[in-house]
Amino acid sequence: MQVYQNFIGGEFVTSQGKRRLHNVNPADTRDIVGEIVQSTAAEAAQAVEVAAQAFKSWRATPAPKRGAIIAKAAQIMARRKEEIARTLTREEGKLYSEALGEMQRAINIAEFAGAHGRRLNGEVIPLELANNVGYTMKEPVGVAAIITPWNFPAAIPIWKIAPALVAGNTVVFKPASLVPATAQLLMECFVEAGLPAGVLNMVIGSGGEVGNTFVDHPAVRLVSFTGSTDIGLGIYQRAAGRGIRAQCEMGGKNPVIVCDDADLDLAVSGVYAGAFGSTGQRCTATSRVIIQHGVADAFLERLMAQVQAMRIGNPLDADIDMGPSVDASQLKTVLNYIEIGKNQGAELLIGGDQPTSEACAHGHFVNPTIFDKVQPHMRIHNEEIFGPVLSVVRVESFDEAIEVANHSEFGLTSSIYTRDLTRTFRYIQEIETGITHVNSPTLGGEAQMPFGGMKNTGVGPREQGTEVFDFYTETKAVYIDFTGAKREGKLY
Ligand code: NAP
Repeated sequence: MQVYQNFIGGEFVTSQGKRRLHNVNPADTRDIVGEIVQSTAAEAAQAVEVAAQAFKSWRATPAPKRGAIIAKAAQIMARRKEEIARTLTREEGKLYSEALGEMQRAINIAEFAGAHGRRLNGEVIPLELANNVGYTMKEPVGVAAIITPWNFPAAIPIWKIAPALVAGNTVVFKPASLVPATAQLLMECFVEAGLPAGVLNMVIGSGGEVGNTFVDHPAVRLVSFTGSTDIGLGIYQRAAGRGIRAQCEMGGKNPVIVCDDADLDLAVSGVYAGAFGSTGQRCTATSRVIIQHGVADAFLERLMAQVQAMRIGNPLDADIDMGPSVDASQLKTVLNYIEIGKNQGAELLIGGDQPTSEACAHGHFVNPTIFDKVQPHMRIHNEEIFGPVLSVVRVESFDEAIEVANHSEFGLTSSIYTRDLTRTFRYIQEIETGITHVNSPTLGGEAQMPFGGMKNTGVGPREQGTEVFDFYTETKAVYIDFTGAKREGKLY
């Protein structure tokens, strides 16, 4: 059985930790993908020290050269795309087609970040003083700690690691314990691309031990975290206590508004993909539909027909529409929220239980579930479930729809289905999410667009796009005086 290894100082090394866990295929728990050795705090600290040492030469490497190595890693990921996607599906449970899509996103982001090595520009700024030049430079910050969740085991690490490295920082990376196999394959791509030893280091282990050691280590100057809100806010506080930069992207409860003038077929296909794609385990998944009364019955009839036809089972099979929850604990959470929904008086339209087919007998499967007549005060409307559970709220007016959509502590993504221009622009102006879509699902994002949430979804600057480089660089302001004369008047 494969035992996953840490990657420290350019070498793959087996942890000396005493605690071992199995990496289990969530679609078939008889399939043990590999073994994790939970690393110790000392090993995490050693990785930080190696990264701090490597920072000196990496920051001196010209940015276009750093970018070229990351672009080469993107090419290697593209060559190994199918192999990595298969591993990703086996350990995380999303469909193979979805894993390929995730890999493509990782590749796009690494390509985009790599190219930015040639554009890590400052700007020349006109000064009041004659014969003086003012300009800014973008400099790396230091060692970046990167802590990622299990639900996008390839794309999320890459959308942090690639810009961090191009900007000239060195990295210590902790993948989620549920997905070490994908993480190890990603490290191999960077090795083959020629990344110098110590510039990128990975330590596999628990958040409490490895994650906290990273965040608290004096040599770490940046923390980028994606995961749940409780953990993220705790990390943000720890980082703030040390006065270092942190960026935390956390939970979501993404709404879709369906107006009475919407193209209903379009809305049904968008909500279906958003709610049940990746078993509802995307941070951008649709978990709430807010729909005007007049079209609610027709919309639900069409959506239910699609959901009834869904095939659930092994995510590596091409004819399967939905795979499992990631593990027993996540499945329990989903089933628990279904009970909460029923107990609080929401109307269960479909699902709510586990499939009984032979194909699902050994995995963490749950049927796609829709609750109708959900009220904004209910827990299933307000709390992140992270499973294939959709809440439908019926409203009278467009104004009420916006109010219900914004009735959430979260603010990652959202969507509206309407043909009305006034409603579209009012919605874009009033919706409280960091990303929004019009007449398309709540999902996805392109490498060159910023990504991140408002309210309790996101703290710190946005990820992706060019904005991410504001997080991973310091700005230095430079004044050059070529008058050769003493300054007359006040210096202020
Ligand atoms: P999680 O439990 O918060 O874990 C995220 C990462 O943090 C894991 O690597 C975890 O390690 C680590 N961790 C746990 N406790 C820690 C601690 N005390 N100190 C430092 N690190 C710690 O989240 P998850 O269950 O993996 O992921 C699902 C969540 O991620 C959902 O809430 C989802 O909405 C969110 N998410 C958000 C976005 C976004 O962009 N907004 C994107 C994707 C996912 P171990 O698990 O190995 O212990």
